[in-house]
Formats: sequence, structure tokens, C-alpha cells
Amino acid sequence: MQSTRSNYTASDTAAVLQGIAPDGGLFVDPDIASRPFDVAGCLQLPYIGMAEKIFSHLLPGFREKAGEIASVYPGKFSSEKITPLTKVGEDYALELYHGPTSAFKDVALSVLPLFITAVKEMEGIEKQISILTATSGDTGKAALEGFHDVPGTDITVFFPDDGVSPMQKAQMVTQVGSNVRVCAVRGNFDDCQRGVKEAFACFGKTAREDSSRILSSANSINIGRLVPQVVYYFSAYAQLMESEKNRFGDPVDFVVPTGNFGDILAGYLAREMGLPVGRLICASNANNVLTDFISTGVYNRCRPFLKTSSPSMDILISSNLERMLFYASRGDTSLVSSLMQSLNTEGTYTLTGEPLKRIQSVFSAGCCTEAETSDTIAELWNQHHWLSDTHTAVGFSVLKKYRADPAYTGNPCVVLSTASPFKFPATVLSAIGGIPSPDEFETAFLLSEKTGIPVPQNISDLRKKPVLHTDLVDKSEVVSYALS
Ligand SMILES: *Cc1c(COP(=O)(O)O)cnc(C)c1O
Repeated sequence: MQSTRSNYTASDTAAVLQGIAPDGGLFVDPDIASRPFDVAGCLQLPYIGMAEKIFSHLLPGFREKAGEIASVYPGKFSSEKITPLTKVGEDYALELYHGPTSAFKDVALSVLPLFITAVKEMEGIEKQISILTATSGDTGKAALEGFHDVPGTDITVFFPDDGVSPMQKAQMVTQVGSNVRVCAVRGNFDDCQRGVKEAFACFGKTAREDSSRILSSANSINIGRLVPQVVYYFSAYAQLMESEKNRFGDPVDFVVPTGNFGDILAGYLAREMGLPVGRLICASNANNVLTDFISTGVYNRCRPFLKTSSPSMDILISSNLERMLFYASRGDTSLVSSLMQSLNTEGTYTLTGEPLKRIQSVFSAGCCTEAETSDTIAELWNQHHWLSDTHTAVGFSVLKKYRADPAYTGNPCVVLSTASPFKFPATVLSAIGGIPSPDEFETAFLLSEKTGIPVPQNISDLRKKPVLHTDLVDKSEVVSYALS
């Protein structure tokens, strides 16, 4: 693995453990497109087998453990296919939310703790691994669920006090485990993420460790988060072939509700590995920094931070875009460094020339308003009897706009469905003409009654659970809390 900002390299096990490179860059595999991968063979396998193949290819340092790690899914996911593909009108929804916290982040965070304990075991590391994570809502709970009571690790999660849904907050503050801390921050997600990055920088200049512990991250800046997400692009493609909609080689477009650019980057990695992915459509809510960037090359975070009904996408600094800049510039680390420097000091940068053209040749982008999100939920329910959460609805709304775009391919389109509608019951119920109760749980049951779809058990169980975490800090205190 190489850093996006210099020629610093690390083994894959070290990259997973460190999370972020010492120069502040993110770890990337510079040769991903040139190392041969048996795509056709991989597509024949069930999900677990695909995951084993892909983990071994992208993180060869974990090869001997890959099969064991991949077999965690059946016990954690309620669907036999793990990430089932459902036909919705002419298009498809890839349901990524059948895991323990009803969000797509479970796919990666069910295995990240296993990657980390595998490194400890393979390399005989005795120090404690401390995980620091900032969350816009879903990462926090999925990471807590993955790491609680894992021996030799502890985890601290920061979330914006006023920036997550009531259900997301309830999920986090009721988390059990002897090694977990959950802390609300007076600030937004970017403040939480900045605090965590600073804590890393303060902790150790190069090794990110002291005499007793090693600091690591569960955010999608960790390459161990991205690799598991590559698998479901293959699974979606295989499921389309099974349904005889597609023959091997026919391109498929993917629409991805995007925040930190992690999920969609995993699609790009799948494409680089040779999966026949056509276009990747980046869908944003009203926080449309990425829509502007992909169409103009200007990334500008100096704009109001808007709170929307799709809070996990309320992000103005999309960390993983840095990896895309690396690939688009063919590994020009000095360009990436200077763009990131400019983002840090000016809040903006501009990409031009060939690198921008390369991005535009693969990615389309669009955004939608709150009203469009809600109308889309209604339309999907009324026309297709498929219940969408708010984030997924952003994807379907942008898909509609993409069909009118000159870049539209006519390929089959798969929308990544990133959360269960029961995580955002008030918005979803209002959208389909119901009246939410002031009580979020009551609203989830009303939504279930109206649609005939059961509330996922992890959400209905929350109501009975006691609140265990009440810490609240200012954004300036994130670093000291993190390192305490
Ligand atoms: C995190 C999240 C996203 C955005 O994913 P990124 O990898 O940050 O782009 C979209 N939808 C939901 C429900 C999420 O939790």
C-alpha cells in the first residue's frame, strides 16, 4: 500500500492497523488495475467465496485468514444472499441493510475488527488497539457493534449531538460493552472528523502508538473499510446474471448515495479490477459539493452545512475523494498533496486537465432537494410497493435526472440501498401519507402497520434498552477526550 501524498509505503496489515499514513495521506493500492483478477470465476461463487477471493486479492497480507474472516456474514446478516438485489420498476435496489444495525456500514464493520485482530495475531502485537471514529450517524453504531468486547481493543465514537436521527442516537447511547465510549459533540460531522484527525496527528508523528496502545480508525479512510464494500458490487452483478437480465461482460451502472465518497470509491475499485461497471452515479442531497466538483472540477466546502433528512450524507469534506484524485492523476502524489493543502487552508481546490476528464469519463453526479427525496419515497411505494429510506431515495431521485443526462448509457441501473427505512421512520411515514407520532419508536410501529413490513428486531429492541452514554463535549474538546 502507498500513501496518496508521498511515496511512503506500508504492508497491507500495517495500513489496516494505522488507518491513515503518517504524512496525512490515505493508503491506496497503486497497481489495482494491472494485477490480474479472475472476475468471471469470482462471479460464480456465493457471497462468502467472493469475499474471500476479493479480500485475498486486495489485501494479500490477510490471505491465510480471508476465508475465516468472510464467514462472519451468515451469522450477522438476516438475508441468505447477504446483500440481496430487488427489482424496483425497471431498475434494481441492492439492499445493503440486512445486518446488525440496519445500515450498509455493517458490511464493512462486521469484518474490520476481524482484520485488526488478525494483524495482532499474525504479527504478535500485544499493545491495545484503540479505535477512534467520527460518525455522521451510521458508522458509529456499526463500529460499536463490531468492536464491543473484542479482546485487546477499545473504541471511542464521536457524533454530532444535533446531527443524527433520533433512532441513530438511541442506537449509539444504548451500546453495551466494557471497552466502548460514546461522546456527543456540539458541532457537525466535519467538526467530529477534524477532531479525530487532529487526535491522530497529536498522538504520534509516525507510528501512532505509545508504550501501551496503537491508535486506529474505523472510518472509511481505513482501507480495511473499503475492501469489504467492493464485494457487493460483484454480488450485484452476479445476481443480475442469475436473473438472466445480463450476460457476462454487459456493463451495469451503479447509483450511489454518497457522503464521504467511500461506498462509490469501492465501486471504482471493482471497476478497476475488471468488473463490467459502466458509469458510477454520485448522488448527493442538498449538500452538493460533489455534484459541483464532478461537473466543474471545483471543490469548494465554503458553503452552508445543511441538515437534511439523509443525515449520513450531510458532509462537506468527502475524505475518500483523495483516493480518487490519486487514481485520476495516475499517482501524482505532489498534485494530491497540494490540492489537500489548499482544501485545508482555503477550503477549496480546482482539478483540471486529464485528471478531471478521467473522473468525468466514469462518474456522473446529481443532487436532490428535501421535497424530491420525500416525493421519491412516495413514488417508490405507490408505484412499486418498495419502501425506501431517505438516503436510498436520494439515489433514486438522482437516477431519474441521470436518465435525462447526455451521458446516460441505457445500461441496467442498480441503486445502492444504504439503510433500512425504519432508521428514519418519521420522514418515511410522512412521505407515504402517514402521521408520525412524537415518539420515534411508536412511529416505527406505525410505519410497519401501514406497510405490512416488520420493524427490524435490532430497532424494536432498542426501546427497552437503558441509556448508558451521556458525555457531551465542545468541538474544541474532541482531541483531549479522544486521547484521555
Ligand atoms: C454512510 C452512509 C452513506 C454515505 O456513504 P459514503 O461511503 O460516506 O459515501 C449513505 N447512506 C447511508 C445510510 C450511510 O450510512
